[in-house]
Amino acid sequence: MPVTPTDPLPDRTVDAVVIGGGAAGLNGALVLARSRRSVVVVDSGTPRNAPAEGVHGLLGLDGTPPDELLRRGREEVRRYGGTVVAGEVTSAVGSAGADPRFTVTLAGGGTVRARRVLVATGLRDVLPDVPGLARHWGRGVVHCPYCHGWEVRDEPIGVLAVGPASAHHALLFRQLTDDLVFFTRGTDLDADTRARFAARGIRVVDTPVTEVVSDGDAVTGVRLTDGEVVPRRVLAVATTMLARIDGLDGLGLPVEDLPGGMGRRLVAGLAGSTTVPGVWVAGNATDPTAQVGASAAAGALAGAHLNADLVTADADAALAAAS
Ligand SMILES: Cc1cc2nc3c(=O)[nH]c(=O)nc-3n(C[C@H](O)[C@H](O)[C@H](O)COP(=O)(O)OP(=O)(O)OC[C@H]3O[C@@H](n4cnc5c(N)ncnc54)[C@H](O)[C@@H]3O)c2cc1C
Repeated sequence: MPVTPTDPLPDRTVDAVVIGGGAAGLNGALVLARSRRSVVVVDSGTPRNAPAEGVHGLLGLDGTPPDELLRRGREEVRRYGGTVVAGEVTSAVGSAGADPRFTVTLAGGGTVRARRVLVATGLRDVLPDVPGLARHWGRGVVHCPYCHGWEVRDEPIGVLAVGPASAHHALLFRQLTDDLVFFTRGTDLDADTRARFAARGIRVVDTPVTEVVSDGDAVTGVRLTDGEVVPRRVLAVATTMLARIDGLDGLGLPVEDLPGGMGRRLVAGLAGSTTVPGVWVAGNATDPTAQVGASAAAGALAGAHLNADLVTADADAALAAAS
């Protein structure tokens, strides 16, 4: 989903640079631009939901293709004077102080100088290593009952377990189909959970999985080590969710592990504030559970708080100049 068209990089210091132009970054930029802040969004064009056909569960926009939603978002940011640049940030460094300054460098060497930074780089989903799985990601292989659950309702669904949280994942998908198979894949499943699954009509397969079988385009089943193929049209799987932090080391943002080995996130507090003065974080980079609506809302809130910080800095500077 390349960012086209792309704007030229400004050669003056801007109020804010937004790293990442998904729902979080664009909504942050929209709020900043509408606050008459000079803002540059740098986006590498690989949003998390790129494989999905539509964005679901988003009021008023349900089913909109992800690239269409972002295209409209970029247009809205530009309408208020914001700049959107196609590119990948490869380094970001800041200077300390009450009114800090940052330099963000893009692959290819271009730079943006900014007074504040909003990090909205999203996360990377790492799939379990099952042959044949990855090529169906976002279509026949899904993770989120709220994103594509309705679309796969009543289908024969299989849950490929990755750990303890997969049992709950299975109950969520059971809400969507009567035909659910849980492949334990060597993970523990206690007697109580087995009883609950039996009561809900969920079949449990303990035989190890060797591969996902397809007819080319679509998932058709799951092959086991004993050769049996369990027919399935859809597979649900939890991913390891890793905040995208490549190139951001220089900002010194704290990173923490998510519980249960689910991944890692950038640590942020109220409205996306961080322990690094002048830097905010929004969306999946800090909240892996946020869907598009929640990510956009977080970006908007972070943008407002970032503007509030600049307002204070501007007043301090005006006072210093006047006295
Ligand atoms: C298959 C799938 C389907 C989904 N379907 C739905 C759905 O139906 N409804 C829903 O609400 N949610 C859905 N989601 C969740 C949705 O993808 C996220 O909620 C949303 O993308 C988070 O927005 P974000 O702005 O935080 O991150 P992203 O949308 O991932 O945007 C981050 C942006 O930052 C850019 N970036 C990263 N690093 C850099 C860098 N160093 N320099 C420059 N740019 C960078 C990326 O290219 C990307 O464009 C789905 C997720 C998946 C995986």
